[in-house]
Amino acid sequence: MIPAREIVAITVLFVFSFPSEKTGSVEIYPPVVERPHSALAPRFDMATMRFTGSVPSQARYLLRHVYFGGKLGDTLEFLPKFIDSLMLERLPVITRDQLRKYIAKHKIDSMDIGGNISRPLSRTKSGIMAGYFIIHDASNLMSPPYKKFTPIVNSMRWYHNQIWRQKDFKWAHAFINRLGLSITCNDFEKPVYGTKFEKSIQNPDVGDTCVGNFIHIENIMPRRSSRRKRPYNDEIAINPGLTNKQYERLALLYLTASCRKEGWLIPSFHAVIDEGIKDAHSDPQNFELNKWVKAMQKLYHQIQKA
Ligand SMILES: [Zn+2]
Repeated sequence: MIPAREIVAITVLFVFSFPSEKTGSVEIYPPVVERPHSALAPRFDMATMRFTGSVPSQARYLLRHVYFGGKLGDTLEFLPKFIDSLMLERLPVITRDQLRKYIAKHKIDSMDIGGNISRPLSRTKSGIMAGYFIIHDASNLMSPPYKKFTPIVNSMRWYHNQIWRQKDFKWAHAFINRLGLSITCNDFEKPVYGTKFEKSIQNPDVGDTCVGNFIHIENIMPRRSSRRKRPYNDEIAINPGLTNKQYERLALLYLTASCRKEGWLIPSFHAVIDEGIKDAHSDPQNFELNKWVKAMQKLYHQIQKA
């Protein structure tokens, strides 16, 4: 005997299998394909434009080490001490006056460190000011791509260190070259896309509603190709990754962005933001968090004394 509910099911199937009057054919829907999706989208609160969790715990997650090929390390058990005290707001951000004094003394043009420091940071469409400082490496492929890294990559003779060429780049706020010089391609006040997380096509659950929430900094970094992958891949990064001068300038850009926000931004690596999204990038490679934090701590106290 056929149970009643199966009769109902068969009848329903039969009725809905009839050609539809409008099209004259059975409507066939394409199978639902599960696309790779953002690992962080479910942890993002659209109302506040912040990831879930306390500020220090967000930083511990967002600063997971980025290994070869974009593989991510574990959530940090603890943050380097100095950055931890910033995330806990135990130290004040530097003031605009302190920053102005410091850059005048060191002959640094504010236009090279994100633009007019009197102004605030970018905002999302919903009016929320940027909360995250995203660290990238620009993944600059050597030419020819199988050439070994040579000291030329740390000189101005290397094409990619000539960062004025990036002046009109649309997908970052600033670039830092291997000599520690920076250029602003978009003022920190301008909303800029720099990740797939901010693109509605690649991250439909959040997408471009969050543009403006991130300050994007690119660091020039030579890469070369692995022979095991498709030609012209950029799998192999130089090691150590950033130069000391780059860490110093990256520290200045972070302190400057936080000064303009009048609050500490939460630092993050690009690869972590895009985790789970198809073709997610693998940057920054060979980033040494302790080196950056040490440079920042030193600079913070220097600026305060300036
Ligand atoms: Zn990136």
